[in-house]
Amino acid sequence: MFDNLSSKFAGAFSALRSRGKISEKDIDATTADIRQALLEADVALEVVEGFTERIHQKSLEVLPTLQSGTNQAQAIFDVVNQELTEILGGGARRVRFAKNPPTVIMLAGLQGAGKTTLAAKLAKFYKEQGDTPILVASDLQRPNAVNQLQVVGESAGVPVFAPEPGNGVGNPVKVAQDGIAFAKSKLHNIVIVDTAGRLGVDEELMKEAIAIRDAVKPDEILFVVDAMIGQDAVRTAKAFQDGVGFDGVVLTKLDGDARGGAALSIAALTGRPIMFASTGEKLSDFDIFYPERMASRILGMGDVATLAEQAKKAFDGDTSKKLEEKFIAGEDFTLDDFLEQLEAMSKMGSMGKLLGMLPGAGQMKKQIENFDESEITRTKAIVQSMTPLERRDLKVLNGSRRARIALGSGRKVSDVNALVDKFTAAQKMMKQMRKGGGMPNMNMARGMALPPGMPGLPPAPRSAAPPQKKKSKSGNPAKRALENG
Ligand code: GDP
Repeated sequence: MFDNLSSKFAGAFSALRSRGKISEKDIDATTADIRQALLEADVALEVVEGFTERIHQKSLEVLPTLQSGTNQAQAIFDVVNQELTEILGGGARRVRFAKNPPTVIMLAGLQGAGKTTLAAKLAKFYKEQGDTPILVASDLQRPNAVNQLQVVGESAGVPVFAPEPGNGVGNPVKVAQDGIAFAKSKLHNIVIVDTAGRLGVDEELMKEAIAIRDAVKPDEILFVVDAMIGQDAVRTAKAFQDGVGFDGVVLTKLDGDARGGAALSIAALTGRPIMFASTGEKLSDFDIFYPERMASRILGMGDVATLAEQAKKAFDGDTSKKLEEKFIAGEDFTLDDFLEQLEAMSKMGSMGKLLGMLPGAGQMKKQIENFDESEITRTKAIVQSMTPLERRDLKVLNGSRRARIALGSGRKVSDVNALVDKFTAAQKMMKQMRKGGGMPNMNMARGMALPPGMPGLPPAPRSAAPPQKKKSKSGNPAKRALENG
């Protein structure tokens, strides 16, 4: 979503870094570049003005305190990073839990904003943390909304309170009230109320939302807004804030290619934090919104914290520990281990999204876009067509075994050969690493180490890797590891 903005920021800073010593004029020019970039990204003028004024002022303050141009450029970069985090809302805010359960979360927003999908995402998120959420179907307007909530609730594995058929039938306020009473009686600790949207924030929408609000007294009213609609997102949020009020924003469709202005304007203009972000149609495409991580992405530093969290979730403790012990004991990394890692990676979501979180991902955009997701499945099929002996000891793989594996996995013998060659090379590399200590992907950024499962990943087979330039050897370890693939 922020690709354009990111590359503009990168341009502004590379110009600044090329200066031996930074002057006030340079700061003026950088500020002007940033101002232009934000306006092009559809950020509200009011927000842009305040932002650029602050970075200009603060940059001028740090300038005389430092000698070298490099340090000055870094200090200005830090100023921009801080201010960007600030306009995105500062720190992440969590849902406030009620003293006496259940905690009631009311979702509101326009039709099509993604409320129903989000209700299930939220429920799944809390369920995974040991809570016992229930969904309440108070969107009795949108055709099929009740049924849709039931379907997504089922995939999230959470109950849905839906006594009315919807499609214009039933009283949404009563459903919400009854839903809370039901949740109390069944000891659910979180109730998520899905309400009806309209095409615009109009009288009808507000009246219904106010009635539900007053009847159930939610602990949190979350305004769900489609980030793809740009400045309109901010306008609807403000209208809803004036009419009904809300506690936090949820931005959906951040996976889209809109310019990102909504995300950068909404917290500053409504004074309400962005609490969650939705980045796709799948229930797992969802996370807490961390302003500092988003700022980091926009500035091309990636989002290693989220990547590490996802890896931790996908690579269960036992697998990681087993691998680490094997590594330390000097045992060979086998194709069985590789298979386990491929499976864990599939659990983490699309490779494109994962690679997009690496520092410098902006410059690898083309490769990331060209990454063929199904290649992982195909690679898995080759490994799965091998016998346990073959997976342990690649040396037994003669011609006829390779032909059998190719047939079994629906691939060509040359694909099997390529995987075997790559894997043998990876095993060798790991042996060298063991001798020399240190793993390639460790300490990717700001002293972060990925969980043990990640660094051990051998390079993907050649055909699975994005097209790469031979010559460049990046100074960025994560990027270099990819290049070496
Ligand atoms: P509601 O009318 O507010 O309940 O909206 P829905 O939950 O039905 O969502 C409207 C459409 O947007 C559906 O097709 C969803 O699959 C899709 N959608 C929801 N969230 C996202 C998201 O984060 N990214 C993308 N790409 N699509 C989304």
